[in-house]
Amino acid sequence: MTPETHILVLYTGGTLGMVESEQGLVPAGDFDARLRAALEQLPPSRRGRLPAFTLREFPQLIDSSSATPADWHTIASQIADAYDSFDGFVVLQGTDTLAWTASSLAFQLKGTARPVIVSGAQLPLEAEHSDALGNVELALTAAAQPTLNEVVVAFGGQLLRGVCTRKWYTQDHRGFTTPNAPLLGEWVDDRVVLYPGRLMDDQGPAFELPDYGRLGK
Ligand code: ASP
Repeated sequence: MTPETHILVLYTGGTLGMVESEQGLVPAGDFDARLRAALEQLPPSRRGRLPAFTLREFPQLIDSSSATPADWHTIASQIADAYDSFDGFVVLQGTDTLAWTASSLAFQLKGTARPVIVSGAQLPLEAEHSDALGNVELALTAAAQPTLNEVVVAFGGQLLRGVCTRKWYTQDHRGFTTPNAPLLGEWVDDRVVLYPGRLMDDQGPAFELPDYGRLGK
């Protein structure tokens, strides 16, 4: 990471951004301000290791259980459009179909030379004992690693190959696993540790977003 490293965060919805209401958990916006306030609670040494980021909130926040391929295409298109302006990307969404998003992005953005990190949380950002802040810290830190040239799920202190990921637990903070692929990295002593021999090689900037006109979006 350099002082110029700048990450684009796409916030699409999901439990991590929800808030308590009389009707239970409901989707809530203003996530940029809420996340920055939460990050302020981190010790200064950890805050200092985070890259700068710009957060874009989806106008219609979705519960990921209602996500469709058109949503995956929207996410991929936003990354493709912003590809040359940012060093890495973080997609924040609900956990129900997070593994599907990661798989779809891995195919759509095949050949990416920049990290694309997908994350979410089992609990809302402002809930007691929430995993949201830790997951976002991991995701932002991973997105600033220039040797990660692929789509990665950051969750529960682990970095997982996106295309091989599946949801394993509905409550445990380690909600995801890759039964057929080794861990790409882990959060150890408040830092990201990558396992270089397991990472994809830099395939160069030659990636092209396929034509998804047939999806009607
Ligand atoms: N139903 C939520 C979603 O997938 C669950 C979660 O965020 O964990 O959007």
